Amino acid sequence: METEPWQWPERTWRGHVGAVRAGRRLVPSSWPGGARVAVALSFDSDHETIPLRDGETSPGRLAQGEYGARVGAGRVLELLAEHGLPATFFMPAVSALLHPAEAKDYASGPHEIGVHGWIHERNTLLSEKDERDLVRRSLDTLAELTGVRPVGIRTPSWDFSSSTLAIIRELGFAYDSSLMADDEPYEILAGGEPTGLVEIPVDWIRDDAPYFTMDRYGSVRPYTRPRDVLEIWTDEFDAAYRAGGVFQLTLHPHVIGHRSRLVVLRELIDHIRGHQDVWFTTHADLAAAVREIPGSMS
Ligand SMILES: [Zn+2]
Repeated sequence: METEPWQWPERTWRGHVGAVRAGRRLVPSSWPGGARVAVALSFDSDHETIPLRDGETSPGRLAQGEYGARVGAGRVLELLAEHGLPATFFMPAVSALLHPAEAKDYASGPHEIGVHGWIHERNTLLSEKDERDLVRRSLDTLAELTGVRPVGIRTPSWDFSSSTLAIIRELGFAYDSSLMADDEPYEILAGGEPTGLVEIPVDWIRDDAPYFTMDRYGSVRPYTRPRDVLEIWTDEFDAAYRAGGVFQLTLHPHVIGHRSRLVVLRELIDHIRGHQDVWFTTHADLAAAVREIPGSMS
């Protein structure tokens, strides 16, 4: 039995690579309203679920998550309201149960609420049955709590297991936002076959957590100056604008909501709004728009 990857026959490594793959790129000749670029802002309102997921229950650790709900989320919603912008909020069900009024805010007005696991679990550590049960419970919990049934999913920590795609299809989601095979939306292929499922790709480059999060007891302490991060995201937006594509961003209220970091989001929005023909959209509306591209989807 060949067990080491270097011993695998070709069909084995081809099988792994071909299981979930990027299909046709989904970018229309122009965005709704004749816009040149689509801007999809997202916020993962994990709050206390990050420590809880790891079984870290000390009040000290949980308070860092609590900041996201108590301070960060309100600041983010206020800034979006100031500019009249929509956004997508992915929220673990446990976080929504801890902060039901916040979940309702996300599901109302111009915004969208999306599934982000039960307790920010790591899918690749779960059995297929456990993963399916948790996604279903998360979907039902958000729907019950907010009165709106989410159509999109982002796996916690973008941890996408070999069962995830089948589960997402089974539960009827319109799009996923957890994979990184492109800068632009694409149709997901399963075993080489089109699935009709839209991927709105993410990347750690366009995420606040890796730049700002530190582990008190870890040896590595990534830290980037907030204004350097602004420069990275501005460059990402400018390139998306030139390409006529999508600028997608993933932020966390407990990370970006701090005073010296919210400045970055404020100035980024100002920079984007200094351009003509920008379509600010939720992930759900973006997924719906790319589905309309003639002949693109099954
Ligand atoms: Zn998360």
